[in-house]
Amino acid sequence: MEITLIVPCYNEEVMLPLFWEQTQPVTATCTNVHFTWLFVNDGSTDASLAWLKTLAQQNPDVQIVSLSRNFGKEAAITAGLAAVAQTAQAAIVMDADLQDPPSLIPEFLQKFQEGYEVVYGVRSSRQADSWLKRTTAQLFYKGYNALADRPLPAHAGDCRLLSRRVLEALLTLPERERFMKGLFNWVGFKSAAIPFVRQKRVAGTTKWNYWKLWNFALQGITAGSTVLLRLWAYIGMCISLGAVLFAGWVAFKKIVWGNPVSGYTSLMVAVLFCSGVQLISLGIIGEYLSRIFMEVKQRPLYLIDEKINC
Ligand code: UDP
Ligand code: MG
Repeated sequence: MEITLIVPCYNEEVMLPLFWEQTQPVTATCTNVHFTWLFVNDGSTDASLAWLKTLAQQNPDVQIVSLSRNFGKEAAITAGLAAVAQTAQAAIVMDADLQDPPSLIPEFLQKFQEGYEVVYGVRSSRQADSWLKRTTAQLFYKGYNALADRPLPAHAGDCRLLSRRVLEALLTLPERERFMKGLFNWVGFKSAAIPFVRQKRVAGTTKWNYWKLWNFALQGITAGSTVLLRLWAYIGMCISLGAVLFAGWVAFKKIVWGNPVSGYTSLMVAVLFCSGVQLISLGIIGEYLSRIFMEVKQRPLYLIDEKINC
């Protein structure tokens, strides 16, 4: 059986030797499986690429796809999937930082042999994360699943095995806004979840801060649902209904009590509330519009600088 490990790497010079040291013994225990490592160098500015090239020279099972600059993890994964689609029976996507434990590999293969086409790791606990990260992640999955047409399995990362058919299906999705978790989920096929404990990063630093995570969440939600766009008509109706009732009440007061000018406060509240609501709705339209703009430009998702052993 031919299996490829797809490893997106961005400035992972410290982690790559450790990753290589730890995955090799695990793959050696899997009999009748030939493993290939496909490292996607996502425009690293450190010595990652140099180290990978040395490894690839000594080892024909190590392949490198090096992108022309940093395109982000989602694009790097897509580049990896495109590179293996013709050769491997299945691919396993893994981070280079060993947060996805290599011990998952045999478990994934076991499920694959049982006939599952997608096998993904689900974090059984997020104790290694900070309180803020845990809470925001929880909120994201709650929000996403409340809005999206197809709910995401909560706390499943990108670490997963994908059969050849699933790889091919993923590559038929043409969009440039690639929220991989959503795309993996959209294609469907018979899937199995494997719980695991996600370790802390052994070395190096995470490439994500909260601003990036917020934008990533927005990308996911706008790609997965149009509810936010359609919601405003209903909010507008509710506010207009409220306004009609309030107008009736004001007219009634005027007729009965002849109340001349009243309610500077209520006037201000109404004006500020309505303009706030309008700006939020415009902002949400802007979010979708900017993504439509990115889509219609039809730019490639990534550019490859060089391929080694591929
Ligand atoms: N990564 C990448 N391109 C990027 C950012 C990250 O290829 O622009 C890779 C990174 O090298 C690692 C994986 O994606 O192998 C996960 O990144 P990280 O550990 O920073 O994310 P976290 O685990 O904190 O979510
Ligand atoms: Mg990580």
